[in-house]
Amino acid sequence: MKFAPNRLYVESYAKCPNCGILLYENPANEVPETVRANSRIYCSAWCVDWEAEREERRRGAAEAGT
Ligand SMILES: [Zn+2]
Repeated sequence: MKFAPNRLYVESYAKCPNCGILLYENPANEVPETVRANSRIYCSAWCVDWEAEREERRRGAAEAGT
């Protein structure tokens, strides 16, 4: 198989919005535990939970005021 020198053999990819790990759309290369939530792809349910908790903290801080 031949690859172009400056072009990855990947048509599309995404990064986990929480931890930034690279996720491939190609099912063969996709991280097995990817989770789709909020129309985004996360590397694992752990990151979905983590980001949800961060949002909760932000909301709580906003409501509490400073
Ligand atoms: Zn992640």
